[in-house]
Amino acid sequence: MSSSNVRAPKGTADMLPEVARAWEHVTRTAEAIFSRYGYQPIYTPIFEHTDVFVRGIGEATDIVGKEMYTFEDKGGRSITLRPEGTASVVRAALEHGLTVNGQGCKLYYSGPMFRYERPQAGRMRQFWQIGVEALGMAEPTIDAEVIVALMEFFAAVGIPRDRMRLLINSMGDERCRPAYREKVASFIRENASDLCEECVRRAETNPLRAFDCKNPGCASVMSRAPLLRDEMCDDCAAHYAAVKSLLDDVGVIYEEDTSLVRGLDYYTRTVFEVQAEGLGAQNAIGGGGRYDRLMEMYGGQPTPGLGFALGFERTLLAMRAAGIDVPVPPSAEVFVARVAPEVAGDAFAVVTRLREAGIAADMDHQGRSLKAQFKLADRLGARFVVIAGPDELAAGQVTVRDMASATESRVALADAARELGSRLHDR
Ligand SMILES: [Zn+2]
Ligand SMILES: [Zn+2]
Repeated sequence: MSSSNVRAPKGTADMLPEVARAWEHVTRTAEAIFSRYGYQPIYTPIFEHTDVFVRGIGEATDIVGKEMYTFEDKGGRSITLRPEGTASVVRAALEHGLTVNGQGCKLYYSGPMFRYERPQAGRMRQFWQIGVEALGMAEPTIDAEVIVALMEFFAAVGIPRDRMRLLINSMGDERCRPAYREKVASFIRENASDLCEECVRRAETNPLRAFDCKNPGCASVMSRAPLLRDEMCDDCAAHYAAVKSLLDDVGVIYEEDTSLVRGLDYYTRTVFEVQAEGLGAQNAIGGGGRYDRLMEMYGGQPTPGLGFALGFERTLLAMRAAGIDVPVPPSAEVFVARVAPEVAGDAFAVVTRLREAGIAADMDHQGRSLKAQFKLADRLGARFVVIAGPDELAAGQVTVRDMASATESRVALADAARELGSRLHDR
C-alpha cells in the first residue's frame, strides 16, 4: 500500500473528537428542537437506486449531471450514494405509505451525503447534513413552520441573528412556471452574447439555473431577467403572501430575493435560504423549499411536501466565525491512581463502581508511575484523584485528593462512589 492510500480520499475528512463532538452537539440540538415541532426521526439507506435521484432531482441539474457517485453493484444495478436527503425520504414515505389517505407526516434526518465536487472551504465530497421533511401538507402555515424551525435551530447552536440573512422567494407551480421558464429561456437567448456558455446551454435545459450562475457578468444580466412575481398565478401569489404574513406575525425577519431559485428541479412555490457572515462565497448554511410534485414523479398520489437541509460543515464554520465554542465535557471527573501494579485490580474495581454511579472516571492503562498518573489526571481535568495504595486497601479505604485545594482525606472503599458523587454535586 502506498502512503497515498493510507490517507482519507480527497474531499473527505475524518471527524476527529473535537469535530465529532460538534456534530453530536448539533444533531442533539436539532433533535431537541425538531421533536418539539412534532418531527420524528428517519434514517434511509446511504445509497439508492440511481433512478431515485435522476427522477427526483432532475437530469438537467449539476448534481445529477456531474456530481453523483454512481456505480454498478455486483448484481448489475445502478446504485448512487445519496447526494442529498429529500429524494430518499420521499421515496421511503411512498414505499411505506406514510402519507396514504391524506395523512401527513413530519420527519427529520441527519447523516452523510456525497457529491463529486471540487473541494473547498465548507464544501466536501462527503458532507454532513441535517434536514426535515413535512409531507402531505399544503397550507402556508407549514411553510412558515419549517422556516421558523430552521431559524430556531441556528439560534440554538448560537449563531447570532444579526450574522444571518434569511432569503425567501416563490418559484410558482406547474400552472405558472412553465410559461415563466419559457420567458427566461427567451431572455437568455436574446442576451446570449453577454452570458457564459453554461448559461446559454441552460436556456435549453434548465433556464432558471442561470439565476444561480456565479459569473458576475451573468449575475448582472440576469438581474434584468423577467421576474416570476409578475407571472405568478393567483393561487401561488396568495400562498406566498400568506407565508410572508405568517413570518411577519411571529417576528421572523426575511428578505425577498427574486433570484433565489435553488438548484433542484423539484421545487415549487416557497423556497428559502439562510446565509451566514464570515464564510466568503460559500455562505449558505441551510435552505429548502416546497416540492409539491415530487411524490408524483415517483408514481405516487399527488402529495404536497416541503423541507430543508442544513450543512454541518458550513454551520460549524459559521459557529466558529461567531466565536462559539462547543461545550467540552470533562474526560474524567475522578481519576483513580494505583500506587503499585499489584493493586491495579482494586483500582479497576473502584473506577468501575464510580462509572456505575454515573461519575466520569478514568485510570491509567499504560503502567505509569504515580507521578505520571497525577499528570494524566490533571490533563484529563479530574477534580479528585482516588489513590489506591496497598495500606489503605488493606484497611478497606482509599485516599481522596481534592485537586483544587490539594487536601487529602481517607474514605471507606464501600462509601467512595457515594462520597465522591456528593462532593462533585456540591461544587
Ligand atoms: Zn453564467
Ligand atoms: Zn402558480
